[in-house]
Amino acid sequence: MIEGYPEIARDVASLKRAPNLGDWAALRESFSWDDMWAELDTPGGLINMAHECIDRHANGANADKPAIIWQAADDHVETYTYGDFKRQSNKVANALKGLGIEKGERVFILSDRIPELYFSCFGILKIGAIMAPLFSAFGPEPIKERVARAEGSVIITTPKLLPKVNAIRSQLPSVRHVIVIAHREGATVAPEDIDYASIVDPASEEFEVERTGAEDWSVMHFTSGTTGLPKGAAHVHNAIVGHYATGKYALDLQPDDIYWCTADPGWVTGTSYGMFAPFSNGVTALIDEAGFAARRWYRLIQDHRVTVWYTAPTAIRLLMRSGESLPAQFDLSSLRFVGSVGEPLNPEAVVWGNRVFEQPILDNWWQTETGSIMCANYPSQPVRPGSMGRPFPGVHVTVVDDEGNELTEPAAEGALVVQPPWPSMFRTYWNDQERYDSRFKNGWYYTGDRAKRDEDGYIWFVGRDDDVINTAGHLVSPFEVESVLIEHPAVAEAGVIGKPDEVAMEVVKAFVTLNEGHSETPELMRELNRHCRDRLGPAVAPREIAVIDILPKTRSGKIMRRLLKARELGLPEGDTSTLEED
Ligand code: AMP
Repeated sequence: MIEGYPEIARDVASLKRAPNLGDWAALRESFSWDDMWAELDTPGGLINMAHECIDRHANGANADKPAIIWQAADDHVETYTYGDFKRQSNKVANALKGLGIEKGERVFILSDRIPELYFSCFGILKIGAIMAPLFSAFGPEPIKERVARAEGSVIITTPKLLPKVNAIRSQLPSVRHVIVIAHREGATVAPEDIDYASIVDPASEEFEVERTGAEDWSVMHFTSGTTGLPKGAAHVHNAIVGHYATGKYALDLQPDDIYWCTADPGWVTGTSYGMFAPFSNGVTALIDEAGFAARRWYRLIQDHRVTVWYTAPTAIRLLMRSGESLPAQFDLSSLRFVGSVGEPLNPEAVVWGNRVFEQPILDNWWQTETGSIMCANYPSQPVRPGSMGRPFPGVHVTVVDDEGNELTEPAAEGALVVQPPWPSMFRTYWNDQERYDSRFKNGWYYTGDRAKRDEDGYIWFVGRDDDVINTAGHLVSPFEVESVLIEHPAVAEAGVIGKPDEVAMEVVKAFVTLNEGHSETPELMRELNRHCRDRLGPAVAPREIAVIDILPKTRSGKIMRRLLKARELGLPEGDTSTLEED
């Protein structure tokens, strides 16, 4: 327990709804992934994520139940039932087939949160192609790296985002088609592109879903590492068993829920929990096109009577900043579950939630590679503020020493590992099997995080084991930022770190040395900032750039980001025996 933050008891009898997981220990005993599989519709052992999420509901009693309530940025609302969703995704599937897209090809989506993004995602899965989302705030460079690495065949985008694609299109020979969702923006489509409406509107509403098996590819998400460019973590259709089970027991989804996941589908939370968990559980999902705004968010919860809300620590900290009189102006009584993921949730936030929403915020932990929630706080279990909760039933997540021995002593710190396999486990890093294999050792999957486990099995996040930056819940590879910085003629070398930030946890900070003939002028700094924003986009570009005389490096020439960070924070420099510096 963190001092000053005692355990928050949960009285099951006084919860607004009896939770799906009543007793964690009992479910852990009785849980079986086969039982979860059996709750889905898998004739002859076939499984397709789109069928589990949409068609099995549309073909039954849920045909007229809203699947999506879409709140446009201009505040008009569109509602799509599971029946509508099936028809629209079938049309996309037929349109893609019509273009000759085959099972296993990579189809990228670069779009803001509009209904066509969701129709496209499931249309892609229905033909057995691999759905690969991109964050709309990426600049051309991150888009190019990801599409190139996956050898994508198609990019589905919008007129507003198309210029980023056009900027790098000539460098992407694998891309055969760019499909533009133009009708919502009233834009015309250039002859070299394909207008979404022109191929989807006339397409048939009937489609027979590709007969995919459990181990066929389904979704690819890019994630950042310390070295090298982002890696494509590839998942299979079997992952839906994990999304379904964790939606049911970790998010406690129940049939009449109005569920809101605030994550963008450009990141894994926006797909696994923005789409796959809610739809496989047949609930109604609210989707907001607009970004964060405290008043708007409270209003949406009130107006749509949101019951289960899954958001992120940065957003919660921003809500905390906007004060407690604001939420008091809204009726938030529909909320029965508030969850959080993506970065450490500070104990103050858990306690704040307990006051403002009359329930503690339930933190849980997982990552792109795990595909679904691995440990969680559950509505029926006591909450220890600052802890990520306990392992999901059916998953063995624990803490080990350097040799891979499980640490049994309470509060001992070690590597956070998961025992493979589990249904939503990634199956490769696309075209980088070696790196994938390196994540599995001693019978464990190494998550790259460090943690502690207490005597009751609650897991406490300590930090990452690498230099990857977590800014507002989005991972950024320092290498990706450094690579773009050194392309600028004035920059000789670059080292990039995460600088602690009160709201976003970390912001990206770059240190550069300059080439001869260049000096630190306001014009150059503006130019460097623009260079990064234009190339990387606001989601990745550094918030701060500092010029220094020399970058600390190891004798083998590797930039010591750890040291840059220690110096930035005024912390002890630790072991500098490998340092090569004047
Ligand atoms: P991503 O793969 O982009 O979803 O990022 C996953 C990483 O975010 C994890 O490996 C952690 O470093 C961090 N993370 C996710 N959830 C939590 C959490 N609840 N507490 C602390 N860190 C988290």
